[in-house]
Amino acid sequence: MTLVQLFKSILPYVRPYKWLVAGALTLTFIGSLAAQVNAYVLQYTVNSIAALLEQQRPLADGLSIIAVITAVLLGKEVLSILVTFGQKSLGERIRIVVSRDLAQQVIERVLTYRLAYFDDDESGSGKLQSRIDQGISSLTRTVQSFFIEIFPLFGAAIVALVGMLNANLAVGLVATAIIPVYYFVSLQQAKKLKGWRREIRRFRETRSGGIINILESINVIKSFNREDIEAKKQSDLQTALTDTQLKTRSTNFKYDGLKTFIEQMGVVAIIILTAYLVLTGQMQIGAIMLHIMLFNNVTAPIRQLHRIYGEVNDALIYAEGFFDVMDADDQVEQSGTYRPARIEGKFELRGVEFTYPNGTQALFGVDMAILPNKITALVGLSGAGKSTVVNLLDKFYEPDLGEILLDGVPLRDYDTRYLRDNVGLVLQKNHIFTGTVADNILYGKPGATHEEMVAAAKQAYIHDEVMKRPGGYESSALALSGGQQQRIAIARLFLKKPPVIFLDEPTASLDAIATEQIKNSLDAIKKDRTVVMVSHSISQYVDADMIYVMKEGRVVEHGTHEDAYRQGGTYKEIFDAAARSLNVEKINSTMS
Ligand code: ADP
Repeated sequence: MTLVQLFKSILPYVRPYKWLVAGALTLTFIGSLAAQVNAYVLQYTVNSIAALLEQQRPLADGLSIIAVITAVLLGKEVLSILVTFGQKSLGERIRIVVSRDLAQQVIERVLTYRLAYFDDDESGSGKLQSRIDQGISSLTRTVQSFFIEIFPLFGAAIVALVGMLNANLAVGLVATAIIPVYYFVSLQQAKKLKGWRREIRRFRETRSGGIINILESINVIKSFNREDIEAKKQSDLQTALTDTQLKTRSTNFKYDGLKTFIEQMGVVAIIILTAYLVLTGQMQIGAIMLHIMLFNNVTAPIRQLHRIYGEVNDALIYAEGFFDVMDADDQVEQSGTYRPARIEGKFELRGVEFTYPNGTQALFGVDMAILPNKITALVGLSGAGKSTVVNLLDKFYEPDLGEILLDGVPLRDYDTRYLRDNVGLVLQKNHIFTGTVADNILYGKPGATHEEMVAAAKQAYIHDEVMKRPGGYESSALALSGGQQQRIAIARLFLKKPPVIFLDEPTASLDAIATEQIKNSLDAIKKDRTVVMVSHSISQYVDADMIYVMKEGRVVEHGTHEDAYRQGGTYKEIFDAAARSLNVEKINSTMS
C-alpha cells in the first residue's frame, strides 16, 4: 500500500468530519506563521539595539522598544498556546471519532461475511482480532499525527523557507541545498530502522505468544519438569530482542550525530554568508539572527523525519491488513430471495461435493433425503463429514457440485435470513454468551415475554435448576454446568420454535448424568419437527426414522437401524464396537 492509497482508503472515514479537519488546518496555518515570529522579532531587536548603541541615551530610548518586543513576544506566546491547544484537541477529536467509526464499521462488515472467511488461516480469530485492533490504532494514530505533528511541522518549515528566500535569495538557496542532504540521511536512518522495527515487533509477538503457551500448558511443563527448558526458550528470545533494541539505539545515535553535524554545517554556511552580506553593508546585523532561526524551523521536521517515516510505514503495513478485512467484498454472504409461507423441512441432497477453503474435500457425491417431521440421524466415525452436511444444510457453505433442495426449491434461492429463522441449531458447546441466564434464553427470540421465556425453560427441563440459583434468571449464565448450558440452548429453540432442527453432537461433551438429564428435553424438542441429528450415542440414533451412515465423505449405507445393521457394513461395525465398549453383559449383571 502506498501513502496515496492510504489517504484514499481513509478519506471516506474522515470526510464526515470535514469541519474539524478544516479547523485543524486553519490552526496549522496560523501556527506556521506564529512559529516565525521569534525570528523576526529577534532581527528587529538586534537591529534596533545596534542602532541605539550609536546614540547618546540608548537605555532611555530603548525602553519603548523593549516594551514593544515584550508585548509582541508574550502576545505571540499566548496565541501559540491557544493554537496548539486547538490543534491538539481537534486532532484528538478526529482520532477518537474516526477510531469509533472504523471499529464499528469493521465489525458490522465482518458480521456479513460467509463462514468460509473465518476458516481461512489468515483470518483465524486471533489474527483477525489483532489485524483489526492494530489497524485501527495505527491508522488513527497516523491521522492524529498528521494533524498535530506532520502538518504543523512541515507547514512551519515551508513558511520559514519562503521567509529565507524572501530575505535573501542566496541565503535561501544555501538553506534549500542543505535540505536534500539532510533528508537523504534521515531517510537512510529510517530505512535501516524499518527492518529492525519489524524484527522487534516479531520478537514481542513471539514472546507474548510464548508466555500464553506457558500459562496454558503449565501443568504439562510441571509434570515433565521442563521449567528450565521453557525459561531457556524465553531467555534466548529476550537476548535477541535486547540485541536488536541496542542496535536500534546505537544506529539512532550515529545518525542523529551525523544529522546534527550536517545541520551545523548549514548553520555555519548561513552565518558566513550573512556575515559577509552584513559586513559589505547589504544587510543589517539582525539578519544573522533571522536567518539562523528560520533555518532552525526549516530543519525541524527533517530532524523528526526518521520517526515520522517509521510511524507512517507501520500505518501502511497495518492499514493494508485492516482494509483487507474491511474490503473483502467477495466474502459477503450471498442470499436468495425465496421466502415461502412455511417450511416443510424436506431436504434432498443430490450428488453433493464439498471442499473446505483450506482444500480438504469433505464430501464426495452425497445423496440424501431428509423427510419432514421425521428424525434423521447421521452416523459415522469422526471426520466422516457429518457436521459438514449440517453446515451445508444451514447454508453456512455452498456445495462445489451437486444440489441441495428444500421443499423442492434449491437452497441457494432461499433468503438466508429467512431460512435461518426457520432452522434451530444445537452444537456440542459454545452456546453461551456473557450475560444472564435470561439474556441467553431470550437470544432465541428477543422481545419475548418473561412468561414465554419461563415456559421455554420448563420445556427444556431447566427451569427448576435456574430457580435454585441465587438470582434465578438474572444470575450469570457462564457459571452454568455444561449440561445446563445445553438445556439453555434447547430452551432458546423452544422460544424460537423453528420447524427444522439440527443437533450436532449435543451431548458429546457431557457426562452420563447430564446426558440423561438432557435426553428428556431433546425428546421434547424433536416432536413434530424435522430433525437432523449427528450423534455417537447409540441411545440417540437407534430410534431415528432414518439413518445415514457416512464414511470418508460418502454415504455408505442408509435405512432404519435394523436395515442398516442387516447390511453388515460400516454401521454394523460402529454399532457393535459401541455396544461392546458398553460391556452390556456386565451392565446387565450389575443392574439385574
Ligand atoms: P464429522 O462431523 O463426521 O466428524 P466433519 O464434517 O467435521 O466430520 O469433517 C469432515 C472433514 O472435513 C474432516 O477431514 C475435517 O478435518 C474436515 N473439516 C471439517 N471442518 C473443517 C474446516 N472448517 N476447515 C477445513 N476442514 C474441515
